[in-house]
Amino acid sequence: MSPEEFKRLGYQLIDFIAEYRASLETQPVMAQVQPGAIKALFASAPPQQAQGLEGVQEDLKALFPGLTHWQSPYFFAWFPSNAPLSSVLADLIATGLGQTGITWQASPALTEVEEVMTDWLRQMLGLPAQFQGVIQDTASTGTLVALLTAREWATGQSQDRGGLQAEARPLTVYVSDQAHSSVPKAALLAGFGRENLRLIETDEAHAMRLDALEAALKRDLAEGRKPCAVVAAVGTTATTAIDPVRKIAELCQQYGLWLHVDAAMAGAAMILPECRWMWDGIEQADSIVINPHKWLGVAFDCSLYYVREPEHLIRAMSTNPSYLHSAADGQVKNYKDWGIPLGRRFRALKIWFTLRELGVEGLQTRLRRDLANAKWLEVQVKQTPGWELLAPVPLQTVCVRYNPGGLSPEQLDRHTQDWVARINRTGRAFLTAALLKGRWMVRVSIGAEATERPHVEALWARMQQEAQRVEIGT
Ligand code: PLP
Repeated sequence: MSPEEFKRLGYQLIDFIAEYRASLETQPVMAQVQPGAIKALFASAPPQQAQGLEGVQEDLKALFPGLTHWQSPYFFAWFPSNAPLSSVLADLIATGLGQTGITWQASPALTEVEEVMTDWLRQMLGLPAQFQGVIQDTASTGTLVALLTAREWATGQSQDRGGLQAEARPLTVYVSDQAHSSVPKAALLAGFGRENLRLIETDEAHAMRLDALEAALKRDLAEGRKPCAVVAAVGTTATTAIDPVRKIAELCQQYGLWLHVDAAMAGAAMILPECRWMWDGIEQADSIVINPHKWLGVAFDCSLYYVREPEHLIRAMSTNPSYLHSAADGQVKNYKDWGIPLGRRFRALKIWFTLRELGVEGLQTRLRRDLANAKWLEVQVKQTPGWELLAPVPLQTVCVRYNPGGLSPEQLDRHTQDWVARINRTGRAFLTAALLKGRWMVRVSIGAEATERPHVEALWARMQQEAQRVEIGT
């Protein structure tokens, strides 16, 4: 494609995206297709002859029924994954510039903009200057990197001495029973083994219980294991519960453990000084993961990974082949040594564009809007007979159940899943049902960029209408 052709088609496709975004208020939020429907639009073999991209818009429109509209103002499912149009432009530029940051020399601008952006965000989050950041693709990767680093730190580089299998004592990892599935997965991938992963009980607010953590540590020590790392959650996935970071950090100090904090979702709120109590003690964490690609408003993928002492990370991750040497080595950051992949996209541009467009204050205003909307919904739920609030609402997620009375626990579970499915099928809103300590509940996750109070009010009206229609025989 010539640059001239790119301009002509590119402007058309920018129009296409803009029209799509403008239509979102009226699109059915959850994809309405049956499995296989989208695959059926494609030929079974690739085109032998060139077709060109002329008219590709029509083919793209055929995919629309297979899109779940995360950017809809009525998207209240899983978690907000905002993709502001500023990020769309930044991603276009990032790909347009065709940079692959394998080392500093491969793209000094890519590396140094990432250094600046991770430091700007560090300041916004109120983290001490000692913390240094790197952009990972996802929190899952960040947590895997954290546990790999913890493993190498705790064993004094087991990599060089037969790996984990040569350790005299099995290493153990501690996470709350409410931890995101990526956390146990990271522990397993990092080689700790299922039998060395402790799911620590949580309290009535769904936060990790310190007494249970300490008891598990003592038990493992007494039985000849070597406690290695704790993963604390600031904002669990199900309910945005807050593990007590300061107290956990004290235990980590006392027992000599690595502390990783998963603030993938809630980390965004730390740009609000009034929310920082939620990670009191964070300066003692060894590593932290935060996803700007969730609620903050930097399009997927962009996950921040901060470390307090980068040398441990670099020791675990670095490689040094001759073809990657440069005269600048020693004076510059080579991010290949700060994570798993060698190649690196120019993701920092998205952060820069977001901050140029809105400034810190613009982002703070949007997050405060979402917190206020969640509080409003919390109050409605508390005031309305039959509705139960299942967890505190420190952030933007409201966990509820409607109990019409007279249903067995199993019938209530079915009723809960049914009314959520009915709302989702209407296409007028999209919510997630989830298990909380063995019983079904509904998570209302507020925070799409386009969601304003009237959207939340409309959702609440719909929730009452559907939940109060009991179709299960009592
Ligand atoms: N941690 C928490 C608390 C989450 O809520 C999620 C996603 O919902 C993740 C980790 C995983 O995020 P990612 O998709 O970036 O791996």
